[in-house]
Amino acid sequence: MSCRDSDAARAAANGILNIDLGALARNYARMVRIAAPAGVAGVVKANAYGLGIEHVAPVLRRAGCDHFFVAMLTEALDLRRVLGDDPAIVVLNGLAPGAERLALGAGVVPVLNCLDQAIAWAELAGSEGRRLPAIVQVDTGMTRLGFAFDEAAELRSRPQVLESLDIRHLMTHLASADDPHSLQSRQQIEMLKQFATGFPGVPLCIGNSHGIGLGPDYHGALVRPGIALYGASAPQVEPVVSLSVRVVQNRSVPAGVKVGYNATFVTQRPMTLATIAAGYADGLPRSLSGRGAVYLDGRRLPIVGRVSMDSTIIDVSDLPEGRTSPGTLVQVIGPDQTIDAVARDAGTISYEVLTSLGSRYWRDYVGSLDGVP
Ligand SMILES: *Cc1c(COP(=O)(O)O)cnc(C)c1O
Repeated sequence: MSCRDSDAARAAANGILNIDLGALARNYARMVRIAAPAGVAGVVKANAYGLGIEHVAPVLRRAGCDHFFVAMLTEALDLRRVLGDDPAIVVLNGLAPGAERLALGAGVVPVLNCLDQAIAWAELAGSEGRRLPAIVQVDTGMTRLGFAFDEAAELRSRPQVLESLDIRHLMTHLASADDPHSLQSRQQIEMLKQFATGFPGVPLCIGNSHGIGLGPDYHGALVRPGIALYGASAPQVEPVVSLSVRVVQNRSVPAGVKVGYNATFVTQRPMTLATIAAGYADGLPRSLSGRGAVYLDGRRLPIVGRVSMDSTIIDVSDLPEGRTSPGTLVQVIGPDQTIDAVARDAGTISYEVLTSLGSRYWRDYVGSLDGVP
C-alpha cells in the first residue's frame, strides 16, 4: 500500500486502534525487574490478547523474552514462523491426540496436562530416539487443566515415560491471584511444592501477572505474565492500547424521542446525540447499553440506548455546538478511560475487552524501542 492509500484507508476506518510497542517493551522490562531472579516468559495467546502477535512477539523477543506461551498448537505454528528457530514456544492446552508430530516439527514444548498426553509425547520421543522437552502442569485446585495430585505417583511409576521426557518445569496456574486476600494461592503453592518432591531438581513455573505481584513465593523460576504486558489490570504497568472511534452522524432532538433498539432510552429534554461507528461486533460489549461512556476534550459522553452491532449512540449535549461532525474521533480507551474502566462498566474484565477489540479498526503500531536492549 502506498502512503496515500494508507492515509485514505486510515481516514475511512471506523476507528483507530493505537498500540504502543515501546510501552509493551517497558512493561516487559518492569516484569523482569519485579520478578528477578525468576525469568519472565511472554504469554501471547489469542493473537497476543488481540493486539497482533506478529507485532507483539518480536518486540518481546528483542526485549529479552525467550519463552513464549500460547494456548493452542495452531498459534504455536504461526508464532514459530514469526520468531524463527530460537525461542521456546510452549502450548498451554497441550496436544490433542495425533498432533504430536506436527508439534515436534515446529519445535514446540507442550504442556503435559495428563498421563495420556505424557505417554503420547514419550512414545514419539522413543521413536525419535531422543528425549523431548515438556512442561508438566499440576492441577493444584483450579480444576481446569493439569495432572491431578494423585496422578503424580502414576507418572513416577512409569520410568520408561519419564526417561523419554526432558521436563523443563513443573507448572501450576493460580486461580485467585487477583485477590491478595485469598488463601487459595498459598494452598496452591503448598500443593505444588509437595508434588515437586517427586521431581527433584525440576524448576517451578508459577505466577501470571497477578501472581508476580504476590511476591517471590509465587514466582518459581519462570513467570508467565500476559495482561500486565499489555498494560491492563496491574498497577505497575503503563497503558499500551488506545482506541478512538469516528462519529458517523449527529442529530439534535427534542424531548420525548425514542433512541435505539427497543427504545430503551427516551429523551427527557432536548439533546444532541451522535452515532459512532463501533458496536458489539467491534468489541464494545452490548452490556454497555445505557451504561458507560466515551470521551472528547476531557468530557464524558454517556452511551445512551442499546449498543448495536456496528454503531453506538452517545450524548454529546455537553459539548459546544458543532464540536462533533462525521469523522470526528472520540476516545473509547485512552488517557480519560482505561481498559479496566470500560470493563467495569461492561460488567466484565479487561482481558475480555482486549481480546474482543474488533478487526475493523485501523491499527497504528507506534512507540519507540530506544533503550530496549
Ligand atoms: C493466560 C494465562 C497466563 C497469563 O495470565 P495473565 O493473567 O494474563 O497474566 C498464564 N498462565 C496460564 C496457564 C494462562 O492460561
